[in-house]
Amino acid sequence: MKTIDFQDISKENMSTMNHNIIKIKKNNKEFKIFMSFNTNMDKIIISFTNNVKKDVADIKENIYYSKFSNLIIEDLTATENNLEHGFGIGNSDKHYANDYVEIINKVNSVFNIKPNNVYFTGEYENGFLAILMSVFIQNSTAIVHNPINFVQQIDVQQKNKLYKTLFSENVNKKVLNTYLKRFSTTLLMRKSNIAPKIFYIQNDQDSTYKTQFNNFLNKLEKYNIYDGNVIKLIYSKKENVGKSLSFVEFNRIKSLIFESKNFQYMFDNVYYNSTASVVLLDDDSREESYNILYKYAKEKEIKITFGVNSAHILNGTKNRINEKQFIEMSKDNSVVEFVNHTHSHVKLTELSKNEIHNEIKLCKDFLTKHNINTSHLIYPFGKVNDEVISIASQYVNSGSKTNGDIVNPKSNNFNKLLLNRIAFEAPIDKIERNMLKAIKCNGCLIINIHAQYDTFSIKHLEDILELTKKYKLDVIHLSEAIDRLGN
Ligand SMILES: [Zn+2]
Repeated sequence: MKTIDFQDISKENMSTMNHNIIKIKKNNKEFKIFMSFNTNMDKIIISFTNNVKKDVADIKENIYYSKFSNLIIEDLTATENNLEHGFGIGNSDKHYANDYVEIINKVNSVFNIKPNNVYFTGEYENGFLAILMSVFIQNSTAIVHNPINFVQQIDVQQKNKLYKTLFSENVNKKVLNTYLKRFSTTLLMRKSNIAPKIFYIQNDQDSTYKTQFNNFLNKLEKYNIYDGNVIKLIYSKKENVGKSLSFVEFNRIKSLIFESKNFQYMFDNVYYNSTASVVLLDDDSREESYNILYKYAKEKEIKITFGVNSAHILNGTKNRINEKQFIEMSKDNSVVEFVNHTHSHVKLTELSKNEIHNEIKLCKDFLTKHNINTSHLIYPFGKVNDEVISIASQYVNSGSKTNGDIVNPKSNNFNKLLLNRIAFEAPIDKIERNMLKAIKCNGCLIINIHAQYDTFSIKHLEDILELTKKYKLDVIHLSEAIDRLGN
């Protein structure tokens, strides 16, 4: 095995030792590493191990071996002390994690690898160093499965052995206070004030879900560290408790992260990071729309889209919102979005061309007068044909009608002027199934509400909102949802 001085790390020197395990000599210590550099690729995958030889055999099976550059670092903490895991802690003098950072920075610099192309990966104990490194190397990314975040929470025997070996002491307050930031990913984040990008894969059946994952998130909140950089990939598998992800599965996740900008992931029927959304669309702007739905939405800060029939508002039609209420709602645009539902709510398919034009245009003009520029039309009674679509397209660029399906932008018959909707009254299990469908295709679930129907209930609405939380779906206005669908 060749040894190279830290100072002598250069592209030339490293290239001659490509695909080999070597030792890097640094401050009288020798750190074993393995490198495989692929000069055509700009990404590097870095992992830690307590047995580099074993990992090299594994990594060669990996589809990324030939695609990307790879760097494996053997943690000297473990090997020089005969410990199972060393967490890069080092000894009372030195925090080896700092040496790893220097080695990685040097390697990246000689090969001109930018931090945003640096990915740290690992599971359990090795996930700890992956997260730690993603804090040290700014703008890098960690992809971890069930990582340890706080060494204090590992098995007691293992912990006592670790402290006693490294610090010649049993676990006690003194050790903890002196070395705490070496033991905790979140404390390092707090100290550095950095929220790295982490793809955090977690089995919610594993005991680490509480002790490490929840604890990790709570700490981020407590320390005021931005947790939006943590992409949570939670799955539920009893048979996986205490186990690594299979190579195939871990690689599949990595490939999604490396190769797709709109990262989306499915595991065990649970989907994450989709751009899918839910729209609550109240059709007719009735009294109940104002008294019940709007007031509830305002209190809970929920976005609702309301259809407007301009003639009903202008004429003060009974049971409809009046102009004063309309103006009040239109000012509340963090909650309310108004869209065109035609002037007088008649079946457009039964009208002449001119009448269709008028029905759409009069409502559009009314809304424009109130500074509302909507480009969406709800077809009254869902009545629509080619002629209606053709005329509508001169005033709006999207239209919707209820037919019990989701909006799937990937489907062959996707047509913005014929967006699908699902009735609010649909059973909750059907709504849940459709949410999952929408998540899969980055689509949208437009839920059509008639606040005036006897079948409307806040309870059902709350059940729907509960599901949007469960699946991390944004409830947004129709115009935003259509923007997300793309062109
Ligand atoms: Zn209607």
